[in-house]
Amino acid sequence: MAERRAGIIRDWRQLSPVLALFRLQPQEGTRFPSYKAGQYIALRRDDCRLTKKLTDDQGRTRYVPDLDEMGRQRRGPVTHSYSISSAPFETERDGHLEFYVVLEISPTDTLGRLTETLFALEPRDGQRLEYVDRIAGDFTLDKRAAGFESILLVGTGTGLAPFAAMVKQLDHEASQGRRPPFRLTLVHANRTPSELAYHEELRAIDAAGRFDFVYVASVSRPDPKAADDSLARGRANNLLRAIFELPLKEEEDGDARALAAAVRPALPTRSPSAELRRRLEPAKSVLLTCGNPSSMADIKRVADVVGMRFEKEDWKPVSRADVTEARN
Ligand SMILES: Cc1cc2nc3c(=O)[nH]c(=O)nc-3n(C[C@H](O)[C@H](O)[C@H](O)COP(=O)(O)OP(=O)(O)OC[C@H]3O[C@@H](n4cnc5c(N)ncnc54)[C@H](O)[C@@H]3O)c2cc1C
Repeated sequence: MAERRAGIIRDWRQLSPVLALFRLQPQEGTRFPSYKAGQYIALRRDDCRLTKKLTDDQGRTRYVPDLDEMGRQRRGPVTHSYSISSAPFETERDGHLEFYVVLEISPTDTLGRLTETLFALEPRDGQRLEYVDRIAGDFTLDKRAAGFESILLVGTGTGLAPFAAMVKQLDHEASQGRRPPFRLTLVHANRTPSELAYHEELRAIDAAGRFDFVYVASVSRPDPKAADDSLARGRANNLLRAIFELPLKEEEDGDARALAAAVRPALPTRSPSAELRRRLEPAKSVLLTCGNPSSMADIKRVADVVGMRFEKEDWKPVSRADVTEARN
């Protein structure tokens, strides 16, 4: 069984009240195991506010604060997996891992146990964050995309994390003369421009042209005071629908209210939909996605309709650490 180790949080960068990037320095005198872009590691704090499961008469389940005899919420360990957003060459060079995390907020406004603890730390830099010294996962290009001429990566929100690692690694390898044998297109959608993590870095990789890479960043809440023609507009699923000339999800569902509220997708002038369609011939392409489950379901629908192979990273608790370490 992999050992638990104590890392240190460094370079916490808050992109919005609920989104952040940070680095984890390994336990003193050790290095992180080597890994492939797209893999994940389990992180743990032992001072999380615990919850317990409640099932009502109709069999509906929800999680409520787990209180002690004095009515205080119990604290204890929670361990979850997080995709690594640093590229393997960066970890080899600088020693740290990097993560792109969102503060979990349930529909009933309950904050996530582990992310609430992380976002509440003050200051965050220098704080202890434990990790399980094992890096795992098969959401890698060699496992999910081998043999395809064209690869489309679609990250919604923090679902960008594994793709940021892949793009940075491919760019690094290309800079050393190892160009990948496929075209790569990355779509990252988030709500606001400031939440587009790695935006400048990805834009620079696209502009440098060291390999065949197109980066499309999209926001569903564009800044009306600072229009930016280089950004796409709309949610990832509807942007894909626009690329493949399909009706919007809300149109397909016949949901007039949702349609009235939906942000109409628009691609940036430098990546028009005809150009993207040319890069993404369905029979020769694979679509990898990660992030928001409802958006991923519709992205799968688009892939199915156009006949493109579909692969996704599920962010349901799947690792042993996720299920054995959480108290309830
Ligand atoms: C492979 C993988 C990679 C991931 N990568 C990332 C990443 O890069 N970035 C990122 O932000 N997230 C990532 N996640 C999600 C992450 O692991 C956590 O699930 C997420 O951060 C929420 O954790 P939390 O403790 O804050 O929320 P939780 O407290 O775990 O709440 C999340 C949901 O779990 C349920 N829940 C609440 N209490 C309990 C309980 N006691 N027992 C069981 N279920 C409960 C509720 O339905 C709640 O809505 C990844 C997940 C996986 C599996």
